[in-house]
Amino acid sequence: MIDTLPQDRSARVLVVVAHPDDETFGTGSLLLHLAAAGVTTAVCCASRGEAGEVREGVTVPPGGLAALREAELREAADLLGVSEIHLLDLVDSGMTGAAPSDSVTGVPLRELVRRLSQVVLGFRPDALVTLDGRDGHRDHLRVRDAAERVGQDLGIPTWLHCLPRRLMREWAQLLAGRDPHSPYLALGELGTPDETITMRIDTSSHYERRAQAIALHRSQTSPYEALPEELRRAFLAAEHMVAPTGRTQASPHGARDPESMGHHHTRSGCYWVHLEGRWSCALVSVTPAVR
Ligand SMILES: [Zn+2]
Repeated sequence: MIDTLPQDRSARVLVVVAHPDDETFGTGSLLLHLAAAGVTTAVCCASRGEAGEVREGVTVPPGGLAALREAELREAADLLGVSEIHLLDLVDSGMTGAAPSDSVTGVPLRELVRRLSQVVLGFRPDALVTLDGRDGHRDHLRVRDAAERVGQDLGIPTWLHCLPRRLMREWAQLLAGRDPHSPYLALGELGTPDETITMRIDTSSHYERRAQAIALHRSQTSPYEALPEELRRAFLAAEHMVAPTGRTQASPHGARDPESMGHHHTRSGCYWVHLEGRWSCALVSVTPAVR
């Protein structure tokens, strides 16, 4: 059973995200928690977030938003104790509209997988962590799919970082009052069903530093900033994850044992499509939802 993240001094964990700020707004407290335990952490970021909305009052320097956001990423990651940053040099796809052909969502998934595999083979992590993508951004879904694919191909457990649905409902209610036309409200129910979350880490001792890292993403508006203190704490003082075993399903070729997943699926060409809750296979067509 892989029911806990590696948390000792010899462990290496790679956090895989789509945009600068995802490492902080998403997994900031986790990175602090791991660093405090002596784990060597790295962040792989697929883009430089150039499609992000710039916070009111922020002037983008001549180098452009990509350079500004990369600098923010490096500064925040430093505060979070991250040892290495890797960029996949893809373009931010934005939330809607046609995704550019060189963007995170626009490139074929195999290209994203190829670039990420190179980083993973270089850093040699014991575990991958990626956002589970239930917050509505298509690049997050794409990066999650790529991370899961790489994890399976290379036999590395891939943890999904979650925003609990219970908290996202409260967040959506507040947002509806403040900004009834927010595109987030049109995305349907966001967040991860609480009953599927398999691990909660108390990170309250890192709360202040997490807030400092959030503030370092100066060009961005933090999704937590207008929240009442109690709800902000609920989001930021604990991390929620789904363990690799928490979503183990029978594959079309019959593998149930997560320990054998990497090996088995590399050979069989199977991979777990998280969004659709089913296995897929590059070699055979699979009837959906083997449960
Ligand atoms: Zn993002």
